[in-house]
Amino acid sequence: MLHFTRLRLVGFKSFVEPAELMIEPGLTGVVGPNGCGKSNVVEALRWVMGETSAKQLRGEDMDDVIFGGTASRPPRNVAEVTLLLDNREGGAPALFNAAQELEVTRRIARGDGSLYRVNGKDVRARDVQLLFADSATGARSTAMVSQGRVSALIAAKPAQRRALLEEAAGIGGLYSRRHEAELR
Ligand code: ATP
Ligand code: MG
Repeated sequence: MLHFTRLRLVGFKSFVEPAELMIEPGLTGVVGPNGCGKSNVVEALRWVMGETSAKQLRGEDMDDVIFGGTASRPPRNVAEVTLLLDNREGGAPALFNAAQELEVTRRIARGDGSLYRVNGKDVRARDVQLLFADSATGARSTAMVSQGRVSALIAAKPAQRRALLEEAAGIGGLYSRRHEAELR
C-alpha cells in the first residue's frame, strides 16, 4: 500500500509562500477559521493526483489555482504541489515500483498548462492518474468526500453507483485502461 507522507505547496491558491504539511499515519485533522485555506489543502491533493476540471476546484480556468494576489501581494505565475508517498510496502504501478519513496509533482505556469514529474522525471498526466487509480484513490476517488457527495450517492442511478463501488474496489484503473485500448 502507498501512504501519503507529505504535501508541499507553493503558489497554489492562498498558499503563496512554500508550505509543507506532514501526513502522519492515522487520522489527520485540518482545523482553522473560515477562509484560512482548509479546502484549498484538500484541493491541492486532488490537483496533484491529476484533477482535470477547474470547476471541481472551484475555479473557471485551471490557471485559477495559481495565487491570484491580494491587496498587499502581487499575483504569482506558477503554482506547484508535491505529494510524497511511502512505497516501502510496494503497490505502485510497475513504472514507478522500484522507488521506496515517490515524489509526485504537478506544476502549472499561467497560460502554459500543467507538467507532471515523478521522482524528477517528466511523466504524462495519465501516468499520475493511473498511479492513484490503481491505489484506490485519486482526484475523483470515493476516498475524497466533498460536500454534497453523500446526497449525490443516494440519488445516483444504479450504473453510477456501480462505478463508485468499482472504484472503491480498486479496479477503476483497469476499466480506464480498457477504454484507452479500445480507442486505439
Ligand atoms: P471554510 O471554513 O469557510 O470552509 P476554508 O478554510 O476551507 O474555509 P478555503 O476555501 O480553503 O477556506 O480558502 C478560501 C481562501 O482562499 C479565500 O480567502 C480565497 O480568497 C483564497 N483563494 C482561493 N483561491 C485563491 C487564489 N487563486 N489566489 C489567492 N487566494 C485564493
Ligand atoms: Mg472549506
